[in-house]
Amino acid sequence: MARYRGPVCRLCRREGMKLFLKGERCHSEKCAIERRNFVPGQHGKDRKAKLVGYGLQLREKQKVRRIYGVLETQFRNTFEKAAHMKGITGENLLGSLERRLDSVLYRMGLATSRSQARQIVRHGHIEVNGHKVDIPSYVVRPGEEISVREKSKTNAAILSARESTAHAPSPSWMDVDKENLKGRINSAPRRDELTQIPINEQLIVELYSK
Ligand code: SF4
Repeated sequence: MARYRGPVCRLCRREGMKLFLKGERCHSEKCAIERRNFVPGQHGKDRKAKLVGYGLQLREKQKVRRIYGVLETQFRNTFEKAAHMKGITGENLLGSLERRLDSVLYRMGLATSRSQARQIVRHGHIEVNGHKVDIPSYVVRPGEEISVREKSKTNAAILSARESTAHAPSPSWMDVDKENLKGRINSAPRRDELTQIPINEQLIVELYSK
Protein backbone atom coordinates (compact mmCIF):
# COMPACT_ATOMS: atom_id res chain seq x y z
CA MET A 1 0.00 0.00 0.00
CA ALA A 2 1.27 3.46 -0.88
CA ARG A 3 2.78 5.63 1.80
CA TYR A 4 4.95 8.72 2.10
CA ARG A 5 8.64 7.75 1.88
CA GLY A 6 10.35 11.14 2.09
CA PRO A 7 12.05 12.80 5.08
CA VAL A 8 9.49 13.10 7.86
CA CYS A 9 11.08 15.89 9.94
CA ARG A 10 10.51 18.09 6.93
CA LEU A 11 6.77 17.53 7.37
CA CYS A 12 6.90 18.83 10.95
CA ARG A 13 8.89 21.86 9.83
CA ARG A 14 6.32 22.56 7.12
CA GLU A 15 3.53 22.53 9.71
CA GLY A 16 5.65 24.47 12.22
CA MET A 17 5.09 22.02 15.06
CA LYS A 18 6.08 18.62 16.36
CA LEU A 19 3.95 15.89 14.79
CA PHE A 20 5.83 13.10 16.61
CA LEU A 21 6.57 10.99 13.55
CA LYS A 22 9.94 9.57 14.56
CA GLY A 23 9.60 7.92 17.93
CA GLU A 24 12.19 8.64 20.61
CA ARG A 25 14.04 11.21 18.51
CA CYS A 26 11.00 13.49 18.77
CA HIS A 27 11.61 13.82 22.51
CA SER A 28 15.31 14.56 22.18
CA GLU A 29 17.27 17.69 21.35
CA LYS A 30 17.97 16.19 17.90
CA CYS A 31 14.38 17.01 16.90
CA ALA A 32 14.46 19.26 13.83
CA ILE A 33 11.77 21.52 15.31
CA GLU A 34 14.09 22.24 18.24
CA ARG A 35 16.98 23.08 15.92
CA ARG A 36 15.45 24.55 12.75
CA ASN A 37 11.86 25.59 13.29
CA PHE A 38 11.22 27.24 9.96
CA VAL A 39 9.62 26.13 6.70
CA PRO A 40 12.00 23.93 4.63
CA GLY A 41 13.41 25.27 1.38
CA GLN A 42 15.65 28.08 0.20
CA HIS A 43 13.31 30.87 1.32
CA GLY A 44 11.84 29.03 4.27
CA LYS A 45 13.12 31.49 6.85
CA ASP A 46 11.41 34.38 5.05
CA ARG A 47 7.97 32.73 4.83
CA LYS A 48 6.07 34.38 7.64
CA ALA A 49 2.73 35.13 5.92
CA LYS A 50 -0.31 34.71 8.16
CA LEU A 51 -2.66 32.07 6.77
CA VAL A 52 -6.36 32.70 6.30
CA GLY A 53 -9.27 30.97 4.54
CA TYR A 54 -8.34 28.21 2.12
CA GLY A 55 -4.65 28.22 3.12
CA LEU A 56 -5.54 27.66 6.76
CA GLN A 57 -7.96 24.84 5.91
CA LEU A 58 -5.44 23.17 3.62
CA ARG A 59 -2.67 23.26 6.24
CA GLU A 60 -4.99 21.75 8.86
CA LYS A 61 -5.90 18.89 6.54
CA GLN A 62 -2.24 18.26 5.63
CA LYS A 63 -1.27 18.29 9.29
CA VAL A 64 -3.82 15.62 10.22
CA ARG A 65 -2.92 13.50 7.18
CA ARG A 66 0.71 13.62 8.20
CA ILE A 67 0.09 12.80 11.85
CA TYR A 68 -1.74 9.61 10.88
CA GLY A 69 0.45 8.82 7.83
CA VAL A 70 -2.47 8.67 5.39
CA LEU A 71 -2.28 9.64 1.72
CA GLU A 72 -4.83 11.97 0.11
CA THR A 73 -7.20 9.42 -1.45
CA GLN A 74 -7.42 7.31 1.68
CA PHE A 75 -7.91 10.42 3.80
CA ARG A 76 -10.70 11.62 1.56
CA ASN A 77 -12.39 8.22 1.71
CA THR A 78 -12.16 8.25 5.50
CA PHE A 79 -13.75 11.70 5.49
CA GLU A 80 -16.61 10.54 3.24
CA LYS A 81 -17.34 7.65 5.58
CA ALA A 82 -17.19 9.98 8.60
CA ALA A 83 -19.65 12.34 6.89
CA HIS A 84 -22.19 9.51 6.58
CA MET A 85 -21.93 8.47 10.24
CA LYS A 86 -24.20 9.78 12.96
CA GLY A 87 -22.75 12.68 14.94
CA ILE A 88 -20.28 15.44 14.16
CA THR A 89 -18.29 14.79 10.99
CA GLY A 90 -14.99 16.24 12.24
CA GLU A 91 -15.10 14.17 15.41
CA ASN A 92 -16.07 11.05 13.45
CA LEU A 93 -13.10 11.66 11.17
CA LEU A 94 -10.60 11.92 14.02
CA GLY A 95 -12.19 8.96 15.82
CA SER A 96 -11.89 6.78 12.69
CA LEU A 97 -8.25 7.76 12.18
CA GLU A 98 -7.47 7.11 15.84
CA ARG A 99 -9.02 3.63 15.66
CA ARG A 100 -6.86 2.57 12.71
CA LEU A 101 -4.96 -0.53 13.76
CA ASP A 102 -1.54 1.14 13.39
CA SER A 103 -2.65 4.11 15.49
CA VAL A 104 -4.16 1.84 18.16
CA LEU A 105 -0.91 -0.13 18.42
CA TYR A 106 1.00 3.14 18.81
CA ARG A 107 -1.44 4.28 21.49
CA MET A 108 -0.96 0.97 23.31
CA GLY A 109 2.74 1.78 23.58
CA LEU A 110 3.83 -1.23 21.50
CA ALA A 111 5.41 0.99 18.85
CA THR A 112 7.28 4.27 19.25
CA SER A 113 5.65 5.91 16.22
CA ARG A 114 2.71 5.28 13.94
CA SER A 115 5.06 4.42 11.08
CA GLN A 116 6.76 1.76 13.18
CA ALA A 117 3.33 0.45 14.20
CA ARG A 118 2.37 0.31 10.56
CA GLN A 119 5.42 -1.82 9.78
CA ILE A 120 4.72 -4.15 12.71
CA VAL A 121 1.17 -4.68 11.45
CA ARG A 122 2.30 -5.19 7.85
CA HIS A 123 4.78 -7.83 8.98
CA GLY A 124 1.93 -9.88 10.44
CA HIS A 125 2.75 -9.60 14.15
CA ILE A 126 -0.71 -8.47 15.26
CA GLU A 127 -4.06 -10.18 15.65
CA VAL A 128 -7.53 -8.83 16.33
CA ASN A 129 -9.88 -11.11 18.26
CA GLY A 130 -7.45 -13.98 17.65
CA HIS A 131 -7.19 -13.53 13.87
CA LYS A 132 -4.12 -12.17 12.12
CA VAL A 133 -4.72 -8.73 10.62
CA ASP A 134 -1.93 -7.19 8.52
CA ILE A 135 -3.85 -4.17 7.24
CA PRO A 136 -2.74 -0.95 9.04
CA SER A 137 -5.90 0.90 7.99
CA TYR A 138 -8.19 -1.70 9.60
CA VAL A 139 -10.54 0.26 11.89
CA VAL A 140 -10.79 -1.45 15.28
CA ARG A 141 -14.30 -1.59 16.74
CA PRO A 142 -15.24 -1.22 20.40
CA GLY A 143 -15.00 -4.61 22.14
CA GLU A 144 -12.29 -5.99 19.84
CA GLU A 145 -9.07 -7.25 21.40
CA ILE A 146 -5.73 -6.38 19.82
CA SER A 147 -2.78 -8.59 20.72
CA VAL A 148 0.71 -9.48 19.59
CA ARG A 149 0.72 -12.96 18.04
CA GLU A 150 2.24 -15.72 20.13
CA LYS A 151 5.20 -16.23 17.79
CA SER A 152 5.94 -12.47 17.80
CA LYS A 153 6.05 -11.96 21.56
CA THR A 154 9.84 -11.94 21.49
CA ASN A 155 10.02 -9.40 18.65
CA ALA A 156 12.80 -6.98 19.57
CA ALA A 157 11.11 -3.86 18.13
CA ILE A 158 7.88 -4.49 20.05
CA LEU A 159 9.65 -5.24 23.33
CA SER A 160 11.92 -2.23 22.97
CA ALA A 161 8.92 0.05 22.27
CA ARG A 162 7.12 -1.34 25.31
CA GLU A 163 10.12 -0.53 27.45
CA SER A 164 10.57 2.99 26.15
CA THR A 165 6.86 3.80 26.60
CA ALA A 166 6.58 2.10 30.00
CA HIS A 167 5.71 5.35 31.78
CA ALA A 168 3.42 6.78 29.12
CA PRO A 169 -0.26 6.74 30.17
CA SER A 170 -2.65 4.56 28.16
CA PRO A 171 -5.69 6.18 26.52
CA SER A 172 -8.82 6.23 28.68
CA TRP A 173 -10.89 4.62 25.92
CA MET A 174 -8.96 1.35 25.96
CA ASP A 175 -7.69 -1.21 28.45
CA VAL A 176 -4.04 -1.98 27.87
CA ASP A 177 -2.23 -4.98 29.31
CA LYS A 178 1.35 -4.16 28.36
CA GLU A 179 2.71 -7.11 30.29
CA ASN A 180 0.82 -9.53 28.04
CA LEU A 181 1.11 -7.33 24.93
CA LYS A 182 -2.60 -6.88 24.39
CA GLY A 183 -5.41 -4.36 24.75
CA ARG A 184 -9.09 -3.83 24.13
CA ILE A 185 -11.03 -0.81 22.89
CA ASN A 186 -13.89 -0.08 25.27
CA SER A 187 -15.60 2.63 23.30
CA ALA A 188 -15.06 5.00 20.43
CA PRO A 189 -12.77 7.81 21.69
CA ARG A 190 -14.44 11.08 22.64
CA ARG A 191 -13.05 14.28 21.11
CA ASP A 192 -11.38 15.32 24.36
CA GLU A 193 -9.59 11.95 24.56
CA LEU A 194 -7.93 12.28 21.17
CA THR A 195 -4.51 13.45 20.03
CA GLN A 196 -2.62 15.96 22.17
CA ILE A 197 -1.54 17.84 19.06
CA PRO A 198 -3.89 20.82 18.53
CA ILE A 199 -6.25 20.13 15.64
CA ASN A 200 -9.20 22.17 14.39
CA GLU A 201 -11.08 19.47 12.49
CA GLN A 202 -13.85 21.91 11.55
CA LEU A 203 -11.42 23.52 9.08
CA ILE A 204 -11.08 20.16 7.29
CA VAL A 205 -14.87 19.82 7.11
CA GLU A 206 -15.07 23.29 5.60
CA LEU A 207 -12.33 22.47 3.09
CA TYR A 208 -14.04 19.32 1.83
CA SER A 209 -17.48 20.96 1.82
CA LYS A 210 -16.53 23.44 -0.93
FE1 SF4 B 1 8.97 15.91 13.95
FE2 SF4 B 1 9.93 13.98 15.48
FE3 SF4 B 1 11.40 14.95 13.44
FE4 SF4 B 1 10.96 16.39 15.65
S1 SF4 B 1 12.13 14.48 15.48
S2 SF4 B 1 10.83 17.13 13.57
S3 SF4 B 1 8.84 15.82 16.16
S4 SF4 B 1 9.46 13.82 13.29
